[in-house]
Amino acid sequence: MKKINIAIDGFSSCGKGTLAKALSIHLNYIFVDSGAMYRAVTLAVIKNNIDYNNLEAIKNLLKNINISFEYSEDDGFYYTCLNGKQIENEIRTMAVNQLVSQISKIDEVRTFLVKQQQNIGQNKGVVMDGRDIGTVVFPDAEIKFFLTAEPKIRAQRRFDEMRSKGNTEVSFEEVLDNLKSRDRIDSSRENSPLKKSDDAIEINNSYLNKEEQFQLALKYIFEEINS
Ligand code: C5P
Repeated sequence: MKKINIAIDGFSSCGKGTLAKALSIHLNYIFVDSGAMYRAVTLAVIKNNIDYNNLEAIKNLLKNINISFEYSEDDGFYYTCLNGKQIENEIRTMAVNQLVSQISKIDEVRTFLVKQQQNIGQNKGVVMDGRDIGTVVFPDAEIKFFLTAEPKIRAQRRFDEMRSKGNTEVSFEEVLDNLKSRDRIDSSRENSPLKKSDDAIEINNSYLNKEEQFQLALKYIFEEINS
């Protein structure tokens, strides 16, 4: 069967990761959460007490960090690692949420990560989700999805997810504000802003459940694979 690359972009907490993961398992493709890579750099910045305006320190930091994914056969999940240490939970905290869009604006950070993302995709068979996958990382991806959903619905989903993981500190308003603020910064930055690629298929999943969205996406993918 022909192997393709699948790019999934969209606003924060739109269910991109959920869709990407389900597709990767079904198709036996590699799943890459590019947001986790930006989060990993952000965590390294925080851990090293670097001010996000200190470009020189961030450039030096990039020389010393290695981001990888550890695949678990048990749950089919790709755990994010920073210098060999698993950091999956640490990169999902509010501290990282609040800084990640500032770190993602930095050209050097983007160049560093985009190169790695393109290397992963060179043999096809990759599902990658993010903000610039269809526009910058894989402009030639055979399938591009652009996911949207109403902000309050997205915030509620993220809030419920955080609660289910035992995070009771954060309020719904904080989640909503963070999401809106990241959307604004991600869409208005100069380098690789979040925008729908002209050839992307837009899916508004406000009122679709995970299975409906998955089946819809799969329909487009098989049309492409069988063409
Ligand atoms: O996808 P996730 O919400 O985990 O991404 C976290 C942040 O990383 C985004 O808000 C955005 O600032 C940045 N990002 C990016 N480009 C990507 C993926 C994520 O700038 N391809």
